[in-house]
Amino acid sequence: MSGPPFVTRFAPSPTGYLHRGHAFSALTAFKAAQGARGRFVLRLEDIDVIRCRPDYEAAIYVDLAWLGLTWDEPVRRQSEHMADYRAALRKLSERGLTYRCFRTRREIAEAIGGAPHGAMEVFHGAPLAPDEEARRVEAGEPYAWRLSLAAAERALGGFATLTFVEEGEGPHGERGLIKANPALGGDVLLTRKDVGVAYHLAVVVDDALQGVNHIIRGQDLFEATHVQRLLQALLGLPTPVYRHHRLLTGPDGKRYAKRDHAQTLRELRASGMTPQALGSELGF
Ligand code: GLU
Repeated sequence: MSGPPFVTRFAPSPTGYLHRGHAFSALTAFKAAQGARGRFVLRLEDIDVIRCRPDYEAAIYVDLAWLGLTWDEPVRRQSEHMADYRAALRKLSERGLTYRCFRTRREIAEAIGGAPHGAMEVFHGAPLAPDEEARRVEAGEPYAWRLSLAAAERALGGFATLTFVEEGEGPHGERGLIKANPALGGDVLLTRKDVGVAYHLAVVVDDALQGVNHIIRGQDLFEATHVQRLLQALLGLPTPVYRHHRLLTGPDGKRYAKRDHAQTLRELRASGMTPQALGSELGF
């Protein structure tokens, strides 16, 4: 075999206990790494200091070990790598691809006409006039950094060459060579007012630094891939291969989600379920 070793990852956020959907995703990635004699790395997406909790993080290790997973050390915790994200933001800002956004959540919601809950927020803004911006920065008003989609499009000479390989399947059966459509994300947040980095930027920086060349995750993140592909191009990072997998649904036909109080892995364990039984229920 030639080429770099297969590296994939599981990247949970410690904002709740893991449930069957996480088990399915983690096992899918882990088995793929095993099958390819590759590596499986773990990353904790813990930038949201308000919602993340140490006991959720501790539970992630226990749950994954119970499932029979092993992973390369060290585990990457995003909260420990803010300097990496700042460097990436600087790189984008130096090329004139970012702008400060002072708008409140409510103003954003009004500007985008109240997008349905759960959909990617698609906002297009513009930098403020330099003197107004300077005045508001000076006054200590909080702001987020956003990527300017229009500036990015100019910098790349269009998005026609932005593609990625889908080895799994998007939510509408997309597979093979896919043309990325970063407009799906609009002017995405690169940092938040309260947190020094936002999801998409942290993910692309980390995947590159962790050498992840196969991203295996749920179809709910298929649209995010279009945005992340753009950030990879702008930052000169390699493009991984993607395998989006189907989302598990519960008996009510709805996908498992923390907010619906899906039964957690620790509850299943406490009720006497074995990892073997769960694995076979999930089709492994
Ligand atoms: N942390 C994200 C989540 O819990 C996953 C991010 C990713 O796989 O890119 O849904």
